[in-house]
Amino acid sequence: MRSIFSAGFFSGSPRRLLALLLVLAMPAGALEQPRLERVRLQLNWQHQFEFAGFYAAKAKGFYRDAGLDVEIVESKPGEISERQVIEGKAEYGISDAKLLLERHKGNPVVVLAVIFQHSPVVLLVPKDGARSVAELRGKRVMMVEDNTELLALFRKQGLSEHDYIRVDPSYDPHDLLNGKVDAMQAYASDEPDYLARAGFAFRTLSARDVGIDFYDLNLFTTERQIELHPEQVRAFRQASLRGWEYAMEHPDEIMDVLQQDYSQKHTREHMRFQYQQMVPLIQPVLIELGYMNPERWRRIAQTYAALGMLPEDFSLEHLLYDSNPPRDLRWLYVGLLLALVSLGGISLVAMRFALLSASLRSEVRIRTALQAELQNQVQVDYLTGLASRRYFIDKASDEVARARRYGLALSLCVIDLDHFKAINDTHGHKTGDRVLQCFSDICSGSLREIDIAGRMGGEEFAILLPETGLEQVRLVAERLRERLAEERMPLAGGHTLRFTVSIGVAVLTPADEDLESLIARADRALYAAKRGGRNRVCIAEG
Ligand code: GH3
Ligand code: MG
Ligand code: MG
Repeated sequence: MRSIFSAGFFSGSPRRLLALLLVLAMPAGALEQPRLERVRLQLNWQHQFEFAGFYAAKAKGFYRDAGLDVEIVESKPGEISERQVIEGKAEYGISDAKLLLERHKGNPVVVLAVIFQHSPVVLLVPKDGARSVAELRGKRVMMVEDNTELLALFRKQGLSEHDYIRVDPSYDPHDLLNGKVDAMQAYASDEPDYLARAGFAFRTLSARDVGIDFYDLNLFTTERQIELHPEQVRAFRQASLRGWEYAMEHPDEIMDVLQQDYSQKHTREHMRFQYQQMVPLIQPVLIELGYMNPERWRRIAQTYAALGMLPEDFSLEHLLYDSNPPRDLRWLYVGLLLALVSLGGISLVAMRFALLSASLRSEVRIRTALQAELQNQVQVDYLTGLASRRYFIDKASDEVARARRYGLALSLCVIDLDHFKAINDTHGHKTGDRVLQCFSDICSGSLREIDIAGRMGGEEFAILLPETGLEQVRLVAERLRERLAEERMPLAGGHTLRFTVSIGVAVLTPADEDLESLIARADRALYAAKRGGRNRVCIAEG
């Protein structure tokens, strides 16, 4: 029910007037506490720190300030959050990219905000097991039947549902540990922690490695809810995002809330692990919380289309909530028109002025476009499309300063193609150029959005990885090296060309005062990698 104190109540109908009289007849005390609207938020998993922002919005009174009494409901086994919301058992819900499929089924769900800019879903395999998804052919893979992201990953690696043995999830990491399955679906923010603490060496395979990048932890509702309660939807969304901002800044406080009010299942250590894994998925510093890019949704839809789960021309219309609808300016225009009419003669002058300003505007537009083009040329390397040396150094210097200021982890990889002169000499300069492009494509495809890759000159490249420490960067560099070494670049006549790289890695230490010192250390490590025989990763001493 809507609060009688919400905006617009006093504007009109006799029924409202009657209600107003009833209110006036009430004892004074009843007016002091405006009644809160009760709504339910249906989670898509059990209570855990992953939903921190919503607990924060409730505990810190953000929902109450928005006139809402929100019940946060965890999902019971077999319960599907989309169904709960579509069937009206909850007003709001959390889901993953599958929302696109719901819409296609004719269920008018609307995404209000994206919390995880990237999906935390990964496949875990033992360290000595499969090195890529392609190697899971014929193996036992524990995963839910309808995880569309993993299905897409398998398909992209050339495996259909018949090429591996799907095992229903027990959600128990021991099954991987004991070799009951060869791979298991997991959340980057959850099971890896248990396995690492059990001392089990594992590898993480993710859809992002092959360029499939899904949104996750999406807050959604229905078109009907927006139609009936537009103000409530806006207020609920805003209060939730405020909660998320708070939770990311005060994680320990919200861990207390989670333990006191919702679930005692998780240790503090595990909740901290979850928080650390969530930071790069949310990127609260770089990306406005809740932000969604229609282009990314379109790419997710295309991934589904490639799987035959959506039509090619699937429309995103009405799927994405518009948090800033254009303001209704009709009355303003009517007023302006009246003023113009009454000003008669002056309107002629005004028209001349308008024409002049239109031509000025077009001039400005042309210049802005030219400027953007010039800037782009300076920022982007023409051959590879990666950042130019200058732009890389600018951006990377900012990141180093930021990491030093906030005490964040940060790593740098310097990469040099091995025996590249020989490639040019044998196959010609043009093929050499294609190798550089092939290298860059693979590189870009395997990086996160916050990473910065640049061409430092010739066949030498650099990658800056914010919020990445030694263990992670070692994994990233090693994985990239392996991936490149596996690549067979097609040549004319059905031949293929292989190439390798050497990588020098440096992790930011307090002694690194600027980017220059970090680059110098990574360069020394690169030199060591070359001396050590090439096609290898060397880590600089701290
Ligand atoms: P190492 O393993 O020690 O790095 O050996 P290398 O042959 O890769 O190193 P070297 O520095 O001797 O050779 C680099 C070559 O890269 C020489 C240069 O002609 C070539 N090169 C530089 N820029 C480009 C480019 O834009 N396109 C092509 N095709 N070749 C380039
Ligand atoms: Mg080289
Ligand atoms: Mg070189």
